[in-house]
Amino acid sequence: MRTLSNFINGQWIQPSAATHLPDVNPADTTETIAESPRSAVADVAAAAEAAERAYPAWRATPAPQRGQLLYRVQRRMEARRDELAEALTREEGKTLAESKGEIQRAINVVEFYAGEGRRLLGETIPSELPYNFCYTIREPVGPLALITPWNFPVAIPIWKLAPAVVCGNTVVLKPASLTPLSASLIADIFAECNAPSGVLNVVYGSGHEVGEALLAHPAIKGVSFTGSNNIGAHLYGAGAAHGIKCQCEMGGKNPVVVLADADLELAVNSAVQGAYGSTGQRCTATSRVIVVDSIADEFVERLETQASTLVVGNGLNPSTDVGPSVDQSQMDTVLDYIEIGQHEGARLVAGGSRLTGDEHDRGYFVEPTIFDRVTPGMRIAQEEIFGPVLSVLRVPDVTSALSVANAVRYGLCASIYTRDISRALQLVDQIEAGIIHVNSPTVGGEAHVPFGGMKATGVGLREMGREAIAFFTELKVVYLDYADTARGGNLY
Ligand code: NAP
Repeated sequence: MRTLSNFINGQWIQPSAATHLPDVNPADTTETIAESPRSAVADVAAAAEAAERAYPAWRATPAPQRGQLLYRVQRRMEARRDELAEALTREEGKTLAESKGEIQRAINVVEFYAGEGRRLLGETIPSELPYNFCYTIREPVGPLALITPWNFPVAIPIWKLAPAVVCGNTVVLKPASLTPLSASLIADIFAECNAPSGVLNVVYGSGHEVGEALLAHPAIKGVSFTGSNNIGAHLYGAGAAHGIKCQCEMGGKNPVVVLADADLELAVNSAVQGAYGSTGQRCTATSRVIVVDSIADEFVERLETQASTLVVGNGLNPSTDVGPSVDQSQMDTVLDYIEIGQHEGARLVAGGSRLTGDEHDRGYFVEPTIFDRVTPGMRIAQEEIFGPVLSVLRVPDVTSALSVANAVRYGLCASIYTRDISRALQLVDQIEAGIIHVNSPTVGGEAHVPFGGMKATGVGLREMGREAIAFFTELKVVYLDYADTARGGNLY
């Protein structure tokens, strides 16, 4: 077992209090893979002050040179990819194949933002004033807080960290308490790559204590948060009260809409991949299928058949398709929602229970679950479950499909299955979601493509791609008057 330390000003530092939080393998709770410090306000202050001290020199470092740090990080991540992937599976539970996918995504993100060091462009704007040169420049915001969830413990910190540092900000990362080891490995890689001290700082501890203290620290000029709606909404308000920049990406309740002319095999594969991949613990997970009545029976039958073939177990085993819930509390939430669905009158057609026996007794495993005949008002159709539970809602036609798709508070992503391109594009126009897939699953994203949601899913600016630069920089407008009025304003 590893004992982790905070990473402050380029040093591994034990926290002021001597208590630790265990980092337990959710697939085998007999294994504690690490323990992380339960930091206090004094540790947060040390990290924020280190970020503040490092800021002037990092801000003054030319952006292409800041990008060079990220190229070094990319190479080290490539060299350590197997170690990163195994640690990720051990601490979060997703399958090794999924962990490798997450590490590759993180590497792509680092590579993309390394290049952005050469493209931090402003623009020139024709002024209404004579002899005026009007242009914009992008400047860093300052020391930033990055607060991240457990479900993508490498990719999400990286997709905040990489644009933040290439834009000239310094950061304090507060990872989720359930996944500290991944954050520690990221810090280790930055240290190996000679990141200047204080550019990246990592502080562990409970969100309530560490996260709140971080946001309130006067050195912190902005916060980028990914996590649940309750916490994100609170942080957005607190950020506004402190007068700092704030970006919050939160939950989802993502639909797959299946129309009568859809390629059913493709749509079923998509629903299964979206609902049960990463154990349903993705913000982009498919949690609702909205299917038109004429094909609903066949769709549900095929869905049930396919879900029944999934192997649930320890993600380190190559034959596993679906790993565990991340901890007891998340598993209990999933099982509670399964009970709620049954009480609400939805038809349980597959799964519905915790798996027991052999290796299952040592982890938090829930059967891939399908509810049919779910109605839009049910809680299982409205609330984010964050587990392997899929709700099927039957609708008479495309108009009802659209209104059901939009009848939730969230708006992260959606998929549409049809061969009719006009229908598809009309739905693209009207579905309220930040990311829409036509004939592909709700999950997934690319390093250079913007990511984020509408409605209650996202407040603040989008992440990823070139869009992220807007959050991680301040835009400055410059008017340069070269009329030279002392010489009559016109030299010719
Ligand atoms: P969470 O409970 O909201 O925690 C997220 C982070 O916030 C953790 O680091 C947590 O620390 C910290 N935190 C908790 N209370 C805090 C407070 N009062 N002040 C400051 N920080 C605080 O979310 P989660 O359970 O880790 O993640 C799952 C959620 O993330 C789901 O809703 C999922 O949809 C969402 N998510 C969204 C996206 C997206 O891009 N839209 C991507 C991935 C996940 P502790 O761990 O110490 O509590």
